[in-house]
Amino acid sequence: MTLAIVDQAERAELAAGTGLTPQAVSKILARLIDDGLVEEVGRRQGARGKPATLYRLRSEKAHAIGIHAGRTDIKGVRVDLGGNVLDTIATPMPAQFTPAQLIDGIASTVEKLVSPQSDSTNPEIVGVGVALPGPVDRTTGVVQGFRWWRDPAATPLLDALTHRLGRHTVMDLSINAALELTAWQRGDQMTDTLYALLDRGVGGALWIGGRLHRGAHMSAGEFGHLVIEAGGPECECGRRGCVEAVQQRALAEGDIARAAAAVATGIANALHIVDVPGVVWSGSDLEAHPEAYAAALAAELQRTLAGGAAYTIHRAVPAEVPHEDCPADLVATGAAVMVLESVYGIPARPGESLDQSLTPEPAEITSR
Ligand SMILES: [Zn+2]
Repeated sequence: MTLAIVDQAERAELAAGTGLTPQAVSKILARLIDDGLVEEVGRRQGARGKPATLYRLRSEKAHAIGIHAGRTDIKGVRVDLGGNVLDTIATPMPAQFTPAQLIDGIASTVEKLVSPQSDSTNPEIVGVGVALPGPVDRTTGVVQGFRWWRDPAATPLLDALTHRLGRHTVMDLSINAALELTAWQRGDQMTDTLYALLDRGVGGALWIGGRLHRGAHMSAGEFGHLVIEAGGPECECGRRGCVEAVQQRALAEGDIARAAAAVATGIANALHIVDVPGVVWSGSDLEAHPEAYAAALAAELQRTLAGGAAYTIHRAVPAEVPHEDCPADLVATGAAVMVLESVYGIPARPGESLDQSLTPEPAEITSR
């Protein structure tokens, strides 16, 4: 959504930024203006031709809530229509909590983020995005086999949350939410990318051809479960010697260099298969030792077939936030952005149905 990234733009820039035709951009703009979400803010005279109308996204008109349900706490953010973080909150969770406790925790976190609105703009809350470590089926919203849950049965969490919250709710893996945030921020600058989330574990995801590449079983890009040490430490997934298991063992032993080397080997192995030009990473483990991880990855990529210079590496860091003691969690922010995309998302490439990606249903649209 190009308007979310730039302050204001004219129609031709929006068309170039989204890959849509100017006619399609006009239709979308008309609908957003009808909804009160975009306004005309003036005209700009170019070197030749008629002056172009400038449009601005009214970010203050609609907000979304993002939730990151982790193993030890629930982090929440409230964002405006431009994806800017306005408020943050963290709720601690008991060890080995049940699905019912998780639903209670998410509901109370959402309630706290929704209630304290004293401003006069009275924004609409368009929905809640929930991100979990997995495994979660994004389409059915069924969670099954969390090893940190006491209940091993399949839980229709999305249905339960939608009912409890009474709001439009979307759900996805934490790693995918983090990747969606990067794609949202970069817009058409987003290249094919391997994302690594180092946050009490090793998550991986792929962005290929302008979208998340999920794979047949929603686990594409999960390089944390590539085996790098035959017969190595047991992994949560049931195999031995996975990147994640080796990294977690090294961290427990205080061997940061070994932990970083395990992750670097995993990323290099994954790049040999998918050969994407970009690597983006984030997470608390990375934030604790950024130099060690960067050095290990640079050294490892140097030894790949393409060589280290063939890849761009970017560390995603949390945005400036209202509360210094409660930073804007990247996964929670990504979950909120997922909501904005599900409601107002404009496809990044031409040829996709606009009507499926825009709600509410199109009313009368006048061509401009
Ligand atoms: Zn594993």
